[in-house]
Amino acid sequence: MCTVTFIAQQRGYRLGMNRDEKLTRPTGLPPKKKMVDGRAVLCPSEPGGGTWIAVNDHGATLALINWYSITARVGGKAVSRGEVVNSVSMASSPDFADAALHGLPLNRINPFRLIGIFPTTSEIIEWRWNLKQLVRKNHRWKAQQWISSGFDEPTAQRVRGKTFQRAGQQHSTGSLDWLRRLHRSHSPQAGPFSTCMHRADAATVSCTEVTVSSQQAAMRYHAGAPCRAFKHYVRHFRLRCRVALRQIGARHSPTLYHDRDSFTDVMRHCISLNGSVTGRLKTSQPGSNQNRPL
Ligand SMILES: [Zn+2]
Repeated sequence: MCTVTFIAQQRGYRLGMNRDEKLTRPTGLPPKKKMVDGRAVLCPSEPGGGTWIAVNDHGATLALINWYSITARVGGKAVSRGEVVNSVSMASSPDFADAALHGLPLNRINPFRLIGIFPTTSEIIEWRWNLKQLVRKNHRWKAQQWISSGFDEPTAQRVRGKTFQRAGQQHSTGSLDWLRRLHRSHSPQAGPFSTCMHRADAATVSCTEVTVSSQQAAMRYHAGAPCRAFKHYVRHFRLRCRVALRQIGARHSPTLYHDRDSFTDVMRHCISLNGSVTGRLKTSQPGSNQNRPL
């Protein structure tokens, strides 16, 4: 039960993830920076240590949603799906993630969809595990959404998909404020099918936002339903400069642009700093239009 939104930008991307869970499930913990196999990783976590989203210092984000349309379940004791992102959180490329996934005891892990965003090569990969095979699917580097629901997955995908399509026609499409408004949307009404999900037994329990620019990766964690005021946690770290330069290379072809720095400008900036980029991440804060409906 989750909604993941990806927005391509000229120099990186934005991603929002609503985590929808049973209200009886333990509350998640805000993001922390940790080192995994020599790579810096930012991720929130469950009290047991598993996670559902992570970004690393190559600017790659890995996000996992359950796959309810597949009804098969592990016989006997299952390994938590929360371990999947942990095992691939340091991946700098799709092949790296692929190898890590094949090292997992997949036959003891319930069906899932894992989304990997790799800005160094402008690749978006989705791995789908249905308890029989792990299928790797390529997606274009453009704005898109992934939706899961344990209530009625096809209807949730249709209704939230419409909200996403409608929001995509707005002038502010792709901005940080737009992404936040989308993830707290109650269109068509607050309930099991709205992007900010509310049911008697389950709800959107957090919203995690990842912003990767040519210089930094930042993770903002909203500890509660996005439509309500809860504490925010923001963590960030610097990316490796070489990653940023390749990231804006010839293969990058986003459909939604919001920062307009050119490749040349970034090159000049990096060279002037002798390979050490120290610029600050540009983020916009929700303003007076915060509660504008979608
Ligand atoms: Zn709500």
